[in-house]
Amino acid sequence: MLRPIVRHLTYDAFLRRDGYRLGPHRGALHASQYFSPERLRALQLERLREIITFAHRHHPFYRRRFATCGFHPGDLRELGDLAALPLLTKEDLRRGLSDHLSDGFGPADVLHKRTGGSTGVPLRVAIDFPAASLKRAATERHNAWAGRLPGDRLAAVWGDTDKPTPWRDRLRNALTERAFYLDTLHFDSPHIEAFIARMRALRPPVLLGHAHTVYRLAEYARRHALDDLSLTAVITTAMVLSPAEREEIENVFQAPVFNRYGCEELSIIASECECHTGMHIFAEGLYVEFLGADETQPRELVITDLTNRAMPLIRYAVGDYGIVARGDCPCGRGLPRLREVAGRSADFLYTPEGVPVFGISILDTFVIHIPGIKQLQIVQYRYDHLQFHIVRDASFSPASLERLEHTIRQVFGPRMRYELHYVDRIVQSERGKYRFSICKIPGLGSSQPPADS
Ligand SMILES: [Zn+2]
Repeated sequence: MLRPIVRHLTYDAFLRRDGYRLGPHRGALHASQYFSPERLRALQLERLREIITFAHRHHPFYRRRFATCGFHPGDLRELGDLAALPLLTKEDLRRGLSDHLSDGFGPADVLHKRTGGSTGVPLRVAIDFPAASLKRAATERHNAWAGRLPGDRLAAVWGDTDKPTPWRDRLRNALTERAFYLDTLHFDSPHIEAFIARMRALRPPVLLGHAHTVYRLAEYARRHALDDLSLTAVITTAMVLSPAEREEIENVFQAPVFNRYGCEELSIIASECECHTGMHIFAEGLYVEFLGADETQPRELVITDLTNRAMPLIRYAVGDYGIVARGDCPCGRGLPRLREVAGRSADFLYTPEGVPVFGISILDTFVIHIPGIKQLQIVQYRYDHLQFHIVRDASFSPASLERLEHTIRQVFGPRMRYELHYVDRIVQSERGKYRFSICKIPGLGSSQPPADS
């Protein structure tokens, strides 16, 4: 009964009160998703010129940067000309860019975002309200592809949500997002059962969460025959999704998975449409470059925010690797696609010879195909040594160990040494995200793995 009231009244009222103006963006984004790729690129070039010119005139960091490399906004004739500018690293962002807002913007004119980032170095980003409104409208558009509309209830598996909230926040949630949560920091039987009971009572059409945690919820639901949840879609986000995880989630919940990719600094970057042929990029607001020549391999993603003037992010090395999708999508949208996001640079592991191994590419090999491993985290401090943190279940046996040994040899070669630690749970990182692989080799953490340089 509340749904139409929220959809048509209170949801927008709260957004307006917070300074968002979504109205004009909704219609525009609905239309532009079907523009031809050429028309979208022309739109991107126009917006790129605007943001570069603005940054040059109004932000001291870019004034200095453009002067140093002899770049003038007038030099930008096509999208490829952007490559003349250096990358914006997280270090640049931390020390330099985020010290200032552009001329004309004060602290009250922006939304402040903080993120721990994959390296654990805190980052501060400020987003002006016109840009935040466009991003919000884009998120709504991508939600709608998965069938989620404003006013619908939402079941969400998310980090650090299990804390007392003031009544104002609860009221606001009831009249806007209508979300209820399972806190990934309390991911145990009583909390899971309570969450599933609520899902059965309230029947939210969509379940949202970090990919691996949603997978573990699906596993739990299957084992305890709690899978009659009548979902219409599952939105997975914040982490890479392996094929076996997708299959399990879809089988258990009998609903398609819509994977998406985003980050705190940029909000939504890309998400799947109903055809599931990769993730359509939010190209009206972002320009994504792929560094490197080999299109078949994961390449470093460099992203320019086309609309945030308060703190322009130009050629931002976001720290993720992805593969571009070629060809048209049957849905008819002209938005370019990411075939997959292969992971973060901090999620790479290495063979003793220094060859990078993408964590996500081996997740299934270890977790799904070795019996008895409930959860696993691999930490690497040296090229020739791995630490395995393993949560076992009842079926773990000597055969599991043999299989593990064999798999390590296969993936990392004969010279790799390793040690096993059996643990009760894997400690989660920022916002309850689980990381399958963590590389702590000293001196790494630059944006390129050593084998490429
Ligand atoms: Zn599509």
